[in-house]
Amino acid sequence: MTVSHDADVLILGAGATGLMAGFHAARTYPAARIVLLDGAKTLGAKILVAGGGRCNVTHDVVDENAYAGSSRNAIKKVLLRFDVPETTVFFEKLGVTLKREATGKLFPTTDSARTVLDALLDGVQHAGAVIRHPRRVVWVRQEDGLFVVGGDWGSMRAKRLIFATGGRSLPKSGSDGHGYSLAQTFGHTLTKQIFPSLVPLLLPETHFIRALSGIAAQVTLDVRSGAGKSLASFTDSMLCTHFGISGPAALDVSRYWLDAHSTDPAARLIVNWLPGRTMEQVDSDLQTWREASWKYAAHLSERLARSLCEAANILPTTRPDQLPREQRKNLARMLTEMPLPVTGNRGYTYAEVTAGGVPLTEINLKTMQSRLCPGVFFCGEICDVDGRIGGYNFQWAWASGYVAGVSVLAEA
Ligand SMILES: Cc1cc2nc3c(=O)[nH]c(=O)nc-3n(C[C@H](O)[C@H](O)[C@H](O)COP(=O)(O)OP(=O)(O)OC[C@H]3O[C@@H](n4cnc5c(N)ncnc54)[C@H](O)[C@@H]3O)c2cc1C
Repeated sequence: MTVSHDADVLILGAGATGLMAGFHAARTYPAARIVLLDGAKTLGAKILVAGGGRCNVTHDVVDENAYAGSSRNAIKKVLLRFDVPETTVFFEKLGVTLKREATGKLFPTTDSARTVLDALLDGVQHAGAVIRHPRRVVWVRQEDGLFVVGGDWGSMRAKRLIFATGGRSLPKSGSDGHGYSLAQTFGHTLTKQIFPSLVPLLLPETHFIRALSGIAAQVTLDVRSGAGKSLASFTDSMLCTHFGISGPAALDVSRYWLDAHSTDPAARLIVNWLPGRTMEQVDSDLQTWREASWKYAAHLSERLARSLCEAANILPTTRPDQLPREQRKNLARMLTEMPLPVTGNRGYTYAEVTAGGVPLTEINLKTMQSRLCPGVFFCGEICDVDGRIGGYNFQWAWASGYVAGVSVLAEA
């Protein structure tokens, strides 16, 4: 007996990944019924806010080293299937021309994320896929060789299921992590830890950095284990805020800091305000510095330079060449090896991406099909993959969504 189905492929989630998977599934299997279900009333919230409303679609140079989570070798296999030139051509064909900025980030020439979202929505519909929303999927099960999914809107049956439900970041967009529970229904495990990534970090209320809100500086942030080993290091701009630190360097380092600190409470986050300079070099310079101490780091901004002197218990107007050895060393240490007593992070509401998820070891990377439940596919942020800021997370969405889309009915 053949049991009737409502769709050949149901895609759970119509964010960046689901739209990519839907487009390629519809193009690759034109006779198939491809339906995307999304719980959100308004589609594409995350695409619209991305890159400050300009949508940083990808990066000029993408390789596995920009990612964390499952093994980099596994991530590389998927990235190679749909690379940056292919992404550029794909968007060009949808009518979105990308431009490269000095940082290597690629944006639409319109500088508007709306262009990217509209092109994807049009593309998916022209390719023949159908988007139904708001249809939040609350439960999933297997029945008579089909997948049945449902919510308060009813239920649908399909031959294949693609999970593109994202992670937990920006929950008001509809990505609240329920996809993880749905994946577990089919026997999947989740990484031991799922936590915010690319997230601003908090400092104690009395910390001087919080009084410098709005000041940015080029710094190196280094995560060190309790034993002093450097675990991850990023040199970029850091922004002082009324709650702690943000900006590219802080966001990039956040997942490594949170990961290290969860298993090693003695792990430390160290800021070097003079990237590339060591404490010894700075101490040696200070011995012959005959101006006010704060002027040594004046390029950072006067307020910040003065605050760093004060944090080292030195009057900013004192000349370092006249300081006792220990005080001078203290200033050198403060400038190059200052520990940041991070007390927490701003959580998923402010996180750009989620670290952890469905391990890639449970997925056949040639197809993104589940190794545990044939007929189920995974792509995008629900997987245990998170990238740096700069367009890497979308590139993972495009590449993994592409692989799932072209493979989903391959053996049907
Ligand atoms: C503020 C911000 C700025 C960002 N800027 C950039 C950037 O410039 N460049 C970059 O590369 N990355 C950026 N990112 C990260 C990027 O947006 C994500 O990596 C990417 O959107 C992940 O795509 P996804 O489709 O896997 O998940 P999502 O975009 O989270 O989409 C998942 C979709 O699934 C739907 N869904 C979830 N659960 C269910 C359910 N149970 N039933 C039905 N539907 C469901 C959700 O409504 C959502 O539409 C940014 C993220 C944020 C939050």
